[in-house]
Amino acid sequence: MFDYTLNPYTGCAYGCTYCYARFMKRFAGRKERWGEFVDVKLNAPELLVRETERKRRAGRVWVSGVCDPYQPVERRYGLTRRCLDILTGNGWPVTVQTKSPLVLRDLDLLKRARGAEVGLTVTTADEGVRVLFEPKAPRIEERICALSVLRSEGVRTFAMIAPLLPGAGGLVELLRGRVDYVLIDRMNYHHADRVYRKYALEWAAEAEFFMRTGRELQSSLEREGIPCEVLFRGS
Ligand code: SF4
Repeated sequence: MFDYTLNPYTGCAYGCTYCYARFMKRFAGRKERWGEFVDVKLNAPELLVRETERKRRAGRVWVSGVCDPYQPVERRYGLTRRCLDILTGNGWPVTVQTKSPLVLRDLDLLKRARGAEVGLTVTTADEGVRVLFEPKAPRIEERICALSVLRSEGVRTFAMIAPLLPGAGGLVELLRGRVDYVLIDRMNYHHADRVYRKYALEWAAEAEFFMRTGRELQSSLEREGIPCEVLFRGS
């Protein structure tokens, strides 16, 4: 799906309870809790220029895999913007994935880019559930609004419903006319925090929950003409 991944930051201020990327603490040598630190890779744009010159062939770049590229500190450092400028300016296709409407700041770059697509992660349509699992991330409404603007400006959009949380059924209504496609996934529990694990355990038949709800959601989205892929299989 992707040839490369680019992470301008280590750590993530959003600190979602289910985040699989918390294993990055090991590499960052950080003792703080996940969500309480963000390391800024100040020389990322310079390294990226070197890398793009070295590679013979352009490939799709996932921005980002283990952090949100639109951290609150991105407003100050602009690393994601500079990296996107380098990639898109050199004809490298990008898949941006974020929870933040700050991505709209870079609409100019995304509109001119060849093969760019932007995904907003939305795990539920219920703000109460969102606050429980993603207390520091942007509100659902802001993410949906960002999708609307991107699509109306001609940027290819998708929604990443991962992990699928209770209340996700309401997303069919919210995503109508705002996305080109949807991906649905469950979560990797190994790196989730205690809050998430507790709730996962309470969903006694969680594998069954994911399979049933994921398939129902997929059918509903497809009935609306939105292509949808469920990435997980039953366990
Ligand atoms: S926004 Fe993404 S990378 Fe950041 S804490 Fe949440 S799940 Fe992890």
